[in-house]
Amino acid sequence: MARRRMIYEGKAKILYEGPEPGTLIQYFKDDATAHNAEKRAVLDGKGVLNNRISEFVMTRLTAAGIPNHFIRRLNMREQLIRKVEIIPLEVVIRNVAAGSISRRLGVEEGNALPRAIVEFYYKRDDLGDPIVSEEHITAFNWAGPQEIDDMISLSLRVNDFMTGLFSAVGIRLIDFKLEYGRLFEGDTVRTLLADEISPDNCRLWDLESGEKLDKDRFRQDMGGVTQAYSEVARRLGIIKETSGGDNIVSFNGGQG
Ligand code: UDP
Repeated sequence: MARRRMIYEGKAKILYEGPEPGTLIQYFKDDATAHNAEKRAVLDGKGVLNNRISEFVMTRLTAAGIPNHFIRRLNMREQLIRKVEIIPLEVVIRNVAAGSISRRLGVEEGNALPRAIVEFYYKRDDLGDPIVSEEHITAFNWAGPQEIDDMISLSLRVNDFMTGLFSAVGIRLIDFKLEYGRLFEGDTVRTLLADEISPDNCRLWDLESGEKLDKDRFRQDMGGVTQAYSEVARRLGIIKETSGGDNIVSFNGGQG
């Protein structure tokens, strides 16, 4: 088989040239990083789980009319996506105080916020992804006012949808991070949801026990990271069952 051209390698994913113009292949690695890549590990099976969980969520978002880059899953670790120009911002949506908002503003972790809060961070590893305002975004031309409006309204719709999706399976959606891209079609540009939606970029707590089912288990050295991701997949109906807490999982439907 001909070697595919690698377009970009990130911390948890690799992008390859796709089979048709305007497409890319998104490959999910098992690598995990935290604290601006100071902490690293390989977590067996994480990529496979994130590929499936992200497929599940993106497919449902498409059905709910929320435009995103996902086309279809290709195999265990790869999905076909639309090629977009990534907007250099991380959009964080928060329902409950945790992580940096608790540290920065002194809001106690676990307290529900008065309303969903949308924040923007400038995607710059060398600066530690600083929080920025709409003023910074438009002044430095990272995105235009219409794109900011699109990102906010799409993010709030994704939040409503995901809050319901997860609460139906006993999971509280605390917060999550989204990325957006520009899709060029002739002389029009559309804002599309891109990247992935998985326990790597969401905070997911068990509704009853408060147990963390997300990447905070890795960030905080709690162990059981892939087991927690498997539990999320199991509750969403993606995996049949977890096998005794190890990493061997069996998937429902589809091949590979
Ligand atoms: N997040 C992410 N990538 C980042 C930073 C944050 O996916 O580079 C996610 C994180 O998993 C959480 C949400 O965004 O669900 C809010 O993270 P926060 O700002 O609280 O960051 P942290 O506490 O990790 O510094």
